[in-house]
Order: sequence, then C-alpha cells, then structure tokens
Amino acid sequence: MGETIFAEMSALAVRTGSVNLGQGFPDTDGPPALLDAASAALHGGANQYAPGIGVPVLRQAIARHQHRNYGIELDPDRQVVVTTGCTEAIAGALLGLVDPGDEVVVLEPYYDSYTAMIDFAGGVRRPVTLRAPDFRLDPAELEAAVGPRTKLILLNTPHNPTGRVLDADELAAVARVAQQHDVLVVTDEVYEHLTFDDHRHVPISTLPGMAERTLTLSSAGKSFSVTGWKVGWATGPAELVGAVTAAKQWLTFTSGAPLQPAVAAALDEQHEFPVRLAADLRDRRDQLVGGLREAGLTSYTPEGTYFATTDVSALGWRSGGDFCRALPERAGVVAIPSEVFYDDPDGPGAGRHLVRWAFCKRPEVIDEAVRRLAAAD
Ligand code: GLN
Repeated sequence: MGETIFAEMSALAVRTGSVNLGQGFPDTDGPPALLDAASAALHGGANQYAPGIGVPVLRQAIARHQHRNYGIELDPDRQVVVTTGCTEAIAGALLGLVDPGDEVVVLEPYYDSYTAMIDFAGGVRRPVTLRAPDFRLDPAELEAAVGPRTKLILLNTPHNPTGRVLDADELAAVARVAQQHDVLVVTDEVYEHLTFDDHRHVPISTLPGMAERTLTLSSAGKSFSVTGWKVGWATGPAELVGAVTAAKQWLTFTSGAPLQPAVAAALDEQHEFPVRLAADLRDRRDQLVGGLREAGLTSYTPEGTYFATTDVSALGWRSGGDFCRALPERAGVVAIPSEVFYDDPDGPGAGRHLVRWAFCKRPEVIDEAVRRLAAAD
C-alpha cells in the first residue's frame, strides 16, 4: 500500500512553502450556522456512539435533500446510511457488493480510492477512458468493457479529475448498458452542486429503470466546504444500502455523532450556500484556467468540480509526474499528476502528460500561484 498522491503532494507543498493547488480542499470555512450547530451539538451531549446507520435527523434531511433537488423518494430508515465521508461509502459499497473475481467497470482517469477499494474487495477493474480534449464517455467502449463477470459500473459525475459533468446522452448510455447486462451502478456524486455555466448534475438514479439498480453516494464536505468533517452517505434501494451498512459495521461501526445533526441543519437550511459556492468557483475556474493558459499550458475548461486539467507537453514535459515533482522547486506551486489515475497512463488517449489543478482557493491565492507560474523559467 503506497502513499496516496494527495498526502505526498500536500506534504511537498508544506515542505517547500508552495501554493498548494494539489489536494482538493477549500481554504475558507463552511457557513457559520453550520459551525454553530456542530458546536451546540458538541456541548449538548451528542458525544457518544450514534446509531450505525446514522442519526435519524440526518437520514431524514438527506432524504429531503434528494427529494427537493431531484424528486427522488427515499425511506430514511431503510434507504439511507450515513458514512464517514464519501470515502467510506465507496469502501462500503465495494466491500459489500463485490465478490473476489467480480469485475467493476470504472471511468478512467479515476479517483484513487476506487481502485484501492476494488483491490481490497478482490475485484477486477475494467477502465473506460475519458479522453482529452472533451473527456466524453464513448458508449461503445463502455459496452465493450461490460461482460459476464461485471458486477457494477462505478460512475462519478461531476467527474474528478477531469471536471466533466456527464450529459443526458452519456447517462442514457450508462443506463442502457446497465439494464441490458443487468448490472448495478454505484455513482459518486460528491460534486453534485458544484457545476458551472449551463451544466447541471442529473443523478443517474432518476433515469427510467435505474432507481432499483443504483446506489448513490455523496457527502457534505464539498457542498458545504467542510471536507475535514467526513460526513457522507449512500442512498438507494434498501438491499444496496444494506450492503454498505453491513460493511460499515466492520469499518467504522458508526460516524462522528455531533457533526451529524449539524449537517442535517445545513441540508435543510443552507440551500443558498452551495449555489453561491458554485458561482464563486466558476470565477475561480476562469481565473486559474486563464492564468494557466497565459503560462503556456493547454488547459481544458471544467464543467464542474474543483479541478482543471492541463496538458504539460507543450512546455516540453513528457510526464506530468516529473513536471509536478519539479514544480515546487521551480515555481513554488503544487499540482497533482493525473498519470496516477490511469491503469496505463501511456495507453491511447491516456494522461501521462496531464496535470490536475485545484481552484477551490481564495482569489489572492490563485493570483499568487499564477504569478509564480508566469515568473518560472
Ligand atoms: N477528493 C479530494 C481530491 O481529489 C481529496 C482527496 C484526498 O485527500 N484523498 O483532491
């Protein structure tokens, strides 16, 4: 088990005093009312084990959130489980649903915890590559990746690291393939509220015939700028939620008690926060992408998430890993090499030369990063 790229690059940023555009976490706090609600819960005695599936007020608030935003009906007692961040929901879903030898079809580039947990479950991954410049999902490649051993398609939209928001055609293709081959879909939607311009997130569970075969994962971290709270959830058919709950018993048993009522209050009352955050992030995206282009990097414009992808080959670099490991010394900036998110970074249209930059930072921080990049040789 190696070190994750996020830990490696954040440590490098601290060691070199670099501007950290690597790991995706905001440098401003979530809504004050959310922090106050956590403090009140902490001082109000919510400090012993919560129920394994999560406190009722949070499960009810998650069900209301899914209904208000997407028209999804959920029974909060059977179709919602609270997890320790979406990371635990991913772990629970894969450990709970995948048997050794089962195949998992996953979009590539992939978030690294997907592959770690597919390995932990003894599963076999079948990547489907999203290729620059538009990072679209090719239905024929998806179809070709699904076979008799496929247990589930692991989806992620809005997509980390490419910033794609899958559109209606791509979602329809996933739904068609899943139904034709009778496979499950597990979908990581943590950036659900962070979309830009006219791009809108549509949960695949809302497509015809999909509610009964889709497990949807999300969290409070990205929507309310509290990535360190690690409060996530899985929702969907009781049987699939039950698989996550079964695995969760042996992972964390239960998640942090005082944070749960606070997140419930945010989901119910802070509807404007993620809307404002997305508008703000769109401006930060434009600021960063503009700066990266001026520094000579080919940059793709993300439709959602915290992340922009660039191609460093125009600057004469073949490997994004070499580029990112040299960048702190040369420019005082840290970014993430996307090559770690591919089975074969040298495969057709894969990302040896791609680098991911986080823009969930204050404008002055992005300015400083851009200034340093422009000044570097
Ligand atoms: N999801 C965040 C990112 O992609 C944080 C990852 C992590 O630290 N494990 O940057």
